[in-house]
Amino acid sequence: MAVKRIGIIGSGQLGRMMALAATHLDTEFVFFDEANDSPCSNLGKSIQPSTDNALQIFIDSVDVVSYESENTDATLVDQISKHVPVYPSSKSLLNSQHRLTEKRFFQSIGIQTADFRKVESLEDLEAAVNDLGLPIILKTTREGYDGKGQAMIKTAQDVLSAWETLGGTELIAEAFVQFSRELSVIAARNVSGDVQVYPLAENDHSAGILRVSRVPVKGLSEQKQAQASQYITNLLNELNHVGVLTLELFDTDSGLIANEMAPRVHNSGHWSIEGAFCSQFENHIRAICDMPLGNTDARQAFAAMINIIGKHGDRKSVLEQGNSFYHAYGKTERLNRKIGHINIVASSESEIESTIKKFSAFTTECGE
Ligand code: AMP
Repeated sequence: MAVKRIGIIGSGQLGRMMALAATHLDTEFVFFDEANDSPCSNLGKSIQPSTDNALQIFIDSVDVVSYESENTDATLVDQISKHVPVYPSSKSLLNSQHRLTEKRFFQSIGIQTADFRKVESLEDLEAAVNDLGLPIILKTTREGYDGKGQAMIKTAQDVLSAWETLGGTELIAEAFVQFSRELSVIAARNVSGDVQVYPLAENDHSAGILRVSRVPVKGLSEQKQAQASQYITNLLNELNHVGVLTLELFDTDSGLIANEMAPRVHNSGHWSIEGAFCSQFENHIRAICDMPLGNTDARQAFAAMINIIGKHGDRKSVLEQGNSFYHAYGKTERLNRKIGHINIVASSESEIESTIKKFSAFTTECGE
């Protein structure tokens, strides 16, 4: 079988983990990114978009293209796809780059969301507060991530300051969802349309940053598991999505409410590298190369992922722990930066929880 040449737009940790997960399947990677000292250096060829004839050289160097970020330029994706397939297609990108489009799309295929209103003026915002009640979260429709570009409106006094902080660009006002916890469901769909869904993860955030993911989700009813599988399968099929897709959910008394999707491998799926039979990264590459998808089941009863934030911490202590795996991204230490993660597998809840506790400083110990 010929080597498959895979182009990735971007060269961060997600591209790095794709290359690490799939080189054994006779793949070669080409990264299209301006950074010349990236987490993907040494894992393949790099092409800097600003150099002469870069896009043509990139297109000529690859058989299939994917990307790392939901903020990838959809016109670039369309341009490349005239020459080589790009997965996921711009349809998945366009539906996840704009919060209003995304929520309308969710609702159109029967996926529950928070009530929301489009906001383009202070009057719109006041009307949204009247309609939705308080509290509400005001968000930019584009480019928000990890809680950036958001303002919480708890009382009528917060309306003006939220508008002053975010106004001037298109916004969405969302009713505040009273959730008990945040979950995510990740699935892969290959070119032939086969779908595999991972077990749901429970995600702990603090200051807008994912700190810990746990699999399985404790006490999740079969009904909610089925609802999540149905949601992600509908999304994959409606979008004709190829590759991995992630859906972030709020767990509420009235079922699962969708927050947002990402047309890519996701931080809350990093546990799958050692925790599942086939990781999200390998399955993403299998999907875009139209290979059979791998088994998404967990290998052990419990798995967890701890983000390493800011500082690398005591790596030796993780390497010495038989059920834990240290993943560094080749990034320098910086305040609040995700520079690696620790995966943990265990056969009992007490073992997984005690190991998470042991390494909890990695996710809170910020640099500088
Ligand atoms: P996002 O950028 O949409 O992922 O939002 C960042 C975080 O804000 C989420 O992980 C939630 O903790 C919280 N959040 C966002 N939207 C809502 C909402 N409508 N109701 C309650 N919490 C929310």
